[in-house]
Amino acid sequence: MTDRETAFAAIVTGSSRGIGAAIAAALAAQGMNVVLNGSSERSLAAAEEQARALADRFGVEALAVAANVADPDEAAALAAAALEAFGRVDVLVNNAGITRDGLAMRMAAEDFDAVVDVNLKGAFNCAKAVLRPMTKQRHGRIINLSSVSGVYGNPGQVNYAASKAGVIGLTKALAKEVARKGVTVNAIAPGFIATDMTAALSEEQRAHALERIASGRLGEPEDVAALAAFLASEDAAYITGQVICVDGGLTL
Ligand code: NAP
Repeated sequence: MTDRETAFAAIVTGSSRGIGAAIAAALAAQGMNVVLNGSSERSLAAAEEQARALADRFGVEALAVAANVADPDEAAALAAAALEAFGRVDVLVNNAGITRDGLAMRMAAEDFDAVVDVNLKGAFNCAKAVLRPMTKQRHGRIINLSSVSGVYGNPGQVNYAASKAGVIGLTKALAKEVARKGVTVNAIAPGFIATDMTAALSEEQRAHALERIASGRLGEPEDVAALAAFLASEDAAYITGQVICVDGGLTL
């Protein structure tokens, strides 16, 4: 896939930092052209810098597009930018995600809505925006970032857990809709991965997490990116509708 004429193209949402940035790098390392994304101005600048670095390092084409995935029009514009630049979209990684933790009794309705809008509806918006080109070319990989919180629940995260459980339902239903068209849809459920998201944990929460992780360490973004790169590859053509935990044994 190093030939520019035939290179696959990938969109990785929320790839200005953290897990998304590592996934974009892993796909570029496979020779894919990549669209990086974030919703804020700060993340657009980071995504642009990352795009230049990937182009230099792997000889692929990479661009950064600012879009809020929770907005259907912006998600459609993100997909359109990829199609315009590369003429195809082979891989969509729905990675953009936020947390607004708090106990259910005290959680504001806006905090519930905001998390579901980005994490779940954002995944739907972006999937919908790429389904036509993917099914038309009879080749596609949609990879959705869920969480162990969505599989097992986590106190203080009813909004986040609901959104990530919803992502699993979306993954399975969509996998059944498009399997015969050469498109696979899978979910990755990370445990505790060292990013800005987990940097917000208190020392006590971090120590409690470490006690429960069989491997005895937080995961690195690259631990998740390696699985995403595999699911995006041709070797994963017969895997669809699955939810795979990357959690160092947290949920054993
Ligand atoms: P992170 O470091 O906070 O990065 C999140 C990325 O998403 C940033 O690029 C952020 O940029 C972007 N983003 C946020 N809201 C967006 C929106 N509305 N539209 C487009 N982009 C948006 O998070 P992370 O830890 O790498 O997590 C990545 C994914 O893995 C998330 O879905 C998260 O829920 C999931 N996950 C993470 C962990 C973990 O332990 N870290 C565990 C399980 C699951 P802007 O804010 O600037 O837009």
